[in-house]
Amino acid sequence: LRRNPGESEFHQAVKEVFESLELLHARHPEYAEAAILERIAEPERQIIFRVPWVDDEGKVRVNRGFRIEFNSALGPYKGGLRFHRSVNLGIVKFLGFEQIFKNSLTGLPIGGGKGGSDFDPHGKSEGEIMRFCQSFMTELFRHIGPDTDVPAGDIGVGGREIGYLFGQYKRLANRFDAGTLTGKGLAWGGSLVRTEATGYGAAIFANEMLKAKGLGFEGRRVLVSGSGNVALYAIEKAQQLGGTAITASDSSGYVVDEEGIDLDLLKQIKEVERGRIHEYAERRGGKARFVEGGNVWEVPGEIAIPSATQNELDGESAKTLLKNGLIAVSEGANMPSTPEAVDLFQEANIAFGPGKAANAGGVATSALEMQQNAARDSWTFEDTEKRLTDIMVNIHDTCAATAEEYGRPGDYVVGANIAGFVKVADAMLDFGVI
Ligand code: NDP
Repeated sequence: LRRNPGESEFHQAVKEVFESLELLHARHPEYAEAAILERIAEPERQIIFRVPWVDDEGKVRVNRGFRIEFNSALGPYKGGLRFHRSVNLGIVKFLGFEQIFKNSLTGLPIGGGKGGSDFDPHGKSEGEIMRFCQSFMTELFRHIGPDTDVPAGDIGVGGREIGYLFGQYKRLANRFDAGTLTGKGLAWGGSLVRTEATGYGAAIFANEMLKAKGLGFEGRRVLVSGSGNVALYAIEKAQQLGGTAITASDSSGYVVDEEGIDLDLLKQIKEVERGRIHEYAERRGGKARFVEGGNVWEVPGEIAIPSATQNELDGESAKTLLKNGLIAVSEGANMPSTPEAVDLFQEANIAFGPGKAANAGGVATSALEMQQNAARDSWTFEDTEKRLTDIMVNIHDTCAATAEEYGRPGDYVVGANIAGFVKVADAMLDFGVI
């Protein structure tokens, strides 16, 4: 705490992992002897930089850019960039720390990193977004590369921003290094299924947890928060699996649609028009209602896939959900449930999939994009989706088996933390003290 003052989200993420690891350390003192915990919680490198740009009125604006190169024991640093007004060092560090274990769980050769800026894309023009991305990359480009550090999208960074970032990277590096960024457009090195991967993966993970209890999605009410990249495709896959996804939200409130979200309409509003969630209710012909400023977790449902942001689901919301018959939570977002909410879910013995396992489908498919780039190849949608599904099933099974091995059957938090940690820690032991 003294070393990292004011980084509350980072402290929260580290505490949760370290608590799970007490079970591991009791059996394996070699990790403590080599100070793996102290080393793993200290980023290998932290880059903080000025991002100056000119707005449409000709005024000079200054934002702060971050890239935390957290751990490269298993491969190049890999993790997204977040553009949101709330971004600060503690948030980027929590995301980067989680990313280490998530990437390890995918079984693919990627280390952990994360970056972003306190730039707020809401209400900015196309030209402002482009100039900001170009300025951001003008500093970042010297730190990244296909074998060094490979950024991708996150909140506020989607296909459009990756295009501007890659364009500037290519220009500065004078190389077409497709493997330097993932989430690229399909015409210039992107992978099919990357857009869908995180949301699909979170629903697939939920399905695996339900199957382990002899249950399924069929006929169940599914609550999804957010209406961005992860939320849209969590809704799509939940519906393909037979569930009825009835909610979506943004920072202004939520919509409920008892017949099931009309995904074509929601995609049109959010992906094409970049509109707000209330427009969905207005254009659904009286079938949906918008609750301004409301908490989506007050809607009764059985499966929850929180897909907006950290700490969006607190203890009070967890109590309401449990009272309303909740059976499973699969975290599409990173750390959306507060520690109180996680405790309540676990005490109630419902299936709880933590983000580092449940939302790993996005980064896994990014690693598949890197593989396609390295081979100058592109795979079909069906082939890539099959690989994504296999990876999610494997992550589920690894977490379940590890939890069992450590005497905590059904505890996916312990399973994910221990299984993710061991691979990284063993590689660090092999490398000696570095
Ligand atoms: P997007 O920017 O596409 O969408 C974010 C959504 O969440 C928007 O609907 C946004 O509403 C809402 N939201 C964001 N911040 C807040 C807030 N403070 N309060 C209420 N609503 C909020 O981001 P993604 O869908 O890509 O990311 C969502 C989550 O998933 C994040 O936690 C991210 O780290 C995680 N994730 C994403 C991956 C990916 O592949 N994209 C991979 C793994 C995890 P509004 O427009 O009003 O801000």
